Amino acid sequence: MSKEYFSFREQVKECKLCTLSNDRTFAVPGEGPVPSDIMFVGEAPGFNEDQQGTPFVGRAGKILDGLLNQINLDRNKVYITNIVKCHPTNNRDPKTVEINSCRPYFDLQIKLVSPKVIVGLGRFALNYFAPGKKISEVHGEFFNWNGVYLFPMYHPAAILHQGNLKQVLEDDIAKIPKLLQQIEVNSQILKT
Ligand code: URA
Ligand code: SF4
Repeated sequence: MSKEYFSFREQVKECKLCTLSNDRTFAVPGEGPVPSDIMFVGEAPGFNEDQQGTPFVGRAGKILDGLLNQINLDRNKVYITNIVKCHPTNNRDPKTVEINSCRPYFDLQIKLVSPKVIVGLGRFALNYFAPGKKISEVHGEFFNWNGVYLFPMYHPAAILHQGNLKQVLEDDIAKIPKLLQQIEVNSQILKT
């Protein structure tokens, strides 16, 4: 672990910049290799994540694991985090002021992880990068965000309320391997 990444994690764990720090058990900075070609970004830690300090370990996490499995990606091979690092009680939506307080951490984290593809899970992740866009309209499409591919998908937890979205999520995630392959090919060409 680089010094910068270690210090990023320590800062998040001790952070009291917004009121989400009052009720959290553990802040959840994120997990995975640094750097990593692909970064998955959810909304905020849920109850289980708050108890363990690890992202996507509850029901939504099991669904995410299944989706990763579908494209032969192990969760340990990808970077996983959230827009805000502390659990909002009762899973309420994160407030704009909280997202903005946490923004410097996330921006630094993106720099350190330096992903080629950012998979935004749900509307909060989408609107962080592309304010005003609707997940129902742009899921499953690639966008350019500062030279990084942004790929919005529905949040895995959406399946729990809307079963028909399971197929949509499966169809969307199926597009990722080809892109990763193409990125790999392009980087080989650039090297030669
Ligand atoms: N939902 C999220 O958005 N993130 C988590 O880590 C868990 C559930
Ligand atoms: Fe700090 Fe972010 Fe947690 Fe707020 S959500 S206390 S800004 S780490």
